[in-house]
This record gives sequence, structure tokens and C-alpha cells, in this order.
Amino acid sequence: MEALQSLLEMKAWSKKIHDQDLKIGFVPTMGALHEGHLSLVQQSKARCDRTVVSIFVNPLQFGPQEDLEHYPQNLEKDFELLKKEAVDVVFVPKPKEMYPEGFQTMVELSQLSQSLCGKSRPASSGESNRPTHFQGVATVVLKLFNVVSPDQAFFGNKDFQQRVMMDRLVKDLHLDIEIVACPIVREKDGLAMSSRNVYLSFEERQRAAVLYRALQHGKKLFWAGERQSSKIIAQVTEMIDKENPKHIDYVCMCDAETLEEVFEIHKPVLLAVAVHFGKARLIDNMLLYGDH
Ligand code: AMP
Repeated sequence: MEALQSLLEMKAWSKKIHDQDLKIGFVPTMGALHEGHLSLVQQSKARCDRTVVSIFVNPLQFGPQEDLEHYPQNLEKDFELLKKEAVDVVFVPKPKEMYPEGFQTMVELSQLSQSLCGKSRPASSGESNRPTHFQGVATVVLKLFNVVSPDQAFFGNKDFQQRVMMDRLVKDLHLDIEIVACPIVREKDGLAMSSRNVYLSFEERQRAAVLYRALQHGKKLFWAGERQSSKIIAQVTEMIDKENPKHIDYVCMCDAETLEEVFEIHKPVLLAVAVHFGKARLIDNMLLYGDH
């Protein structure tokens, strides 16, 4: 496994691989890797000739009140895990090279970035030129795509909105990159794996498992014939509330493609939640579909 830092080296490596007519799979991450990230790596290994994993805690996508300073990092362990998966390149660019002085170009998806986490992760506290969370995400991913030149890029459905945005971004900008959506990997009790789960105390960790149970409950209501979003949302919210979260950012039913809010369900819909337990802001979601 090669570890690369400089953008030029990364570009040169990708050119060499493409010159051999081989396909590059790419898994962008912020590190503190877990089984969820590794499932993306495994998909890439299965589908592509070479696999690149990037580790970059992107300052652009953190709001001023968020956890950039404390975001979990463990490069040594990450490298070990990636070596075991026989990844070809781990790419760890430096913030200064990614965002040199004078950097100012932002990528914005005007509609998909407005709902769900776009509403509840404000970027500015009066700083008007600060990027929004999803401008930060779209900008860094496009930059990484330009440096790594992947044929396929792997994104987890845990960050469903991010994945939908990537589908749109490659279409809108005519990028020859296939976005591969990967299923959510969960702990035994259903909690979606996340780098931020380490913020949870033992007791918060127990309570946080309600998110999965609540989503499943929502799905059961749907299968039982409920088609009013408000009824499902009310019961899901009540279940989560009973576990005393610090704050519920949202419980939302939205169209799985446009992410627009859905009030009466006529086609597959996404039930998505964002909830704070202690210091951790956790997100999760479930697709409701079928004629049950
Ligand atoms: P992050 O390091 O949190 O930015 O995540 C990097 C990639 O891993 C994103 O595409 C995430 O959606 C994906 N990912 C994170 N957690 C999980 C999970 N539990 N299951 C599947 N994919 C995940």
C-alpha cells in the first residue's frame, strides 16, 4: 500500500494506472475508519482494478459551532485497517495544499442542499462568506475527483443526502464517474456505525440505539398502510423523545430522489433522522417502499 500526500503525486499515480487501461475505485473518507468505511473499500476492490482511499477532515464542511477541532483521528489504525484490506493507495492531502491562500471556488447544488442536514447544519454565524456544510462537501469531493480521477466512487447511504448530491453532481458536470451507493453498516443493536459514535458515553450509546428502532417502527407503520407522513413522523419522534436526546434536529419524510418533503406517500420515500445524544450528532435513515 502506498501513502501519498501531494496532489501531484496522486495525479501522477492515477495517470499511470489509466495508461495501463485499469479502473480506479475511490472511497473518500474523513478517517477514524470503521466497518462502514471498510464495506465501501470492499465494494471498490470487488469492482475496480485499483482502490484509492482518501483521508481528509475537510475544514470547509464544518460550521463554526461544530466539532472540527475534536473530530476523531487515528491515522495509524486507519493505515493498518486499509493495509489489511489491501488498498492500493491511501491519499492524505494537506489542508494547505487543498486550500491554498486565495482559494475561493465553491460548488453548490441549489436544491438538494436545502433540505434535511442543509437546514440543520448552518455554516455561518454572521460570517456571510463562509461556505455552507454542503458547499463544503460538494467542493471537496469535486476537488478530490479531479485529483484522483476515479472511474467509480463509493458513498454510503448512511449519508443519504450526500450520496444523492453526488449522483446529481456527476450528471450536472458531465463527470465520467459512476457513483456507487453502498448500504448502511450497523452495530448489533442497529446503531449506524459512525466515526462520531466515540463521542457517546456508555449510557448515551445505549439510548442512541433508539434511532434504528424508531426507523423500523416507522417502516412498520408504512407497511401497515399508513400513508400520512405526519402520523409516522409523530410516532417516530415520540419514540426518540422517550430516550431523552439532547436535541432532535429533524425527523423527516422526503422523496428519495429530490429530497423534497413528502406529506402523502405515493412512492418510495426516505424516512430520515438527525438527533443529538450528548456531544454526538447522529444521522440515520431508512427507505420505505413496497406494497405491504
Ligand atoms: P465519513 O468518513 O464519515 O465522511 O464517511 C465516508 C464515507 O463512508 C461516506 O460515503 C459515508 O456515507 C460512508 N459511511 C460512513 N458510515 C457508514 C456506515 N455505517 N455504513 C455505510 N457507509 C458509511
